[in-house]
Amino acid sequence: MIIEAKELSKIYGEGENQVVALDRASLTIAPGDLISIMGPSGSGKSTLLHLLSGLDRPTSGQLTYDGRDIYRLGDKELSAFRRRRIGFIFQQFHLLPVLTAWENIVMPLLLDKKQPDERYLGELAGMLGIGERLSHLPHELSGGQQQRVAIARALVKMPGVLLLDEPLSNLDARLRLQTREEIRRIQRETGITTVFVTHDQEEAMSISDRIVVMKEGVVQQIGKPQAVYDDPANLFVARFLGTPPINVFAGQCRGGRLYLGEDAVLGVSGIADQEVYVGVRPEGFVLCETGSLSCEFGSVEVMGRDISVVSRHGASLNPTVRSIISAENRVDAKDGTVRFFLKPQKVFLFRKETEERLYGEITE
Ligand code: ADP
Repeated sequence: MIIEAKELSKIYGEGENQVVALDRASLTIAPGDLISIMGPSGSGKSTLLHLLSGLDRPTSGQLTYDGRDIYRLGDKELSAFRRRRIGFIFQQFHLLPVLTAWENIVMPLLLDKKQPDERYLGELAGMLGIGERLSHLPHELSGGQQQRVAIARALVKMPGVLLLDEPLSNLDARLRLQTREEIRRIQRETGITTVFVTHDQEEAMSISDRIVVMKEGVVQQIGKPQAVYDDPANLFVARFLGTPPINVFAGQCRGGRLYLGEDAVLGVSGIADQEVYVGVRPEGFVLCETGSLSCEFGSVEVMGRDISVVSRHGASLNPTVRSIISAENRVDAKDGTVRFFLKPQKVFLFRKETEERLYGEITE
């Protein structure tokens, strides 16, 4: 199913109490895509997901499923469409405690007066690894198994789209990783168009075809995870993606050079002289005795394949500068100083007032 949202807005309350939960969000989701909506708490992720599911109607805007404008449907038709075509998985699993796993799974079919297709259900349960547990009550299942029952229940009616609202947030770290890989596998196997909401950037980056980054109800950027990481549209997006996070400095473009404090670190063209914010990804540092960026050495953290050099610099907005370099490097902090060259493709400039990206050419 192709889903197209055009300028969706949702405003709650009135007058002084008015909250713009979602501000003109536009988004196209191609058939078979897995899209993650990510952003901090309160950024409008759930609001967008509820609008996409037809659970809620927008204040303004349009939503089409395969060209069909679903907010034009009356309440009864919309609810029937939702039941038939949309699978929704909530943070809380909402399993009925008095029904077995099997009964929970087939419930949506029974509500629609449809006979369960036993073969399909068997395959589904097998795929989800709960084939042996179908006669158990929810309280006899682990958190991960309950989650899989909820996934099976959402998939049992073969919906055109699967929507998941922070489905992993109640699971412990190991199960989270396992379940997210399973969701990805099931999504690939069934080819079902999927929209996933999470505030966990690592989770979103690892499983998504595309990510939507939100802030204060406004879509900031949409793209493939790697493309958004490599080419962030603004400082917020640059900061939101990446662990450890991007290093941010107060800098200056002056006479074709980029300065961090007194250090002229790179060449820059196509950008007028001005004060800027400078983002440098942790992997953008090259340790070198003659490096142009001079930092006060703090410590080295060993991470196995790589090491993280923690240092300080007067122009850094973060308390420490974190660089990640290969463990083959020897860190020799003579007189308490470490020096780095910066890789131009790992350095981003942002306009100081708006924090929007400044596009120009950055050179060594
Ligand atoms: P997220 O899912 O990213 O945490 P939400 O979509 O839940 O964010 O909320 C976005 C904003 O809209 C928040 O400021 C929230 O307080 C507000 N909001 C959400 N639902 C309602 C509601 N029913 N009534 C009033 N304000 C709401």
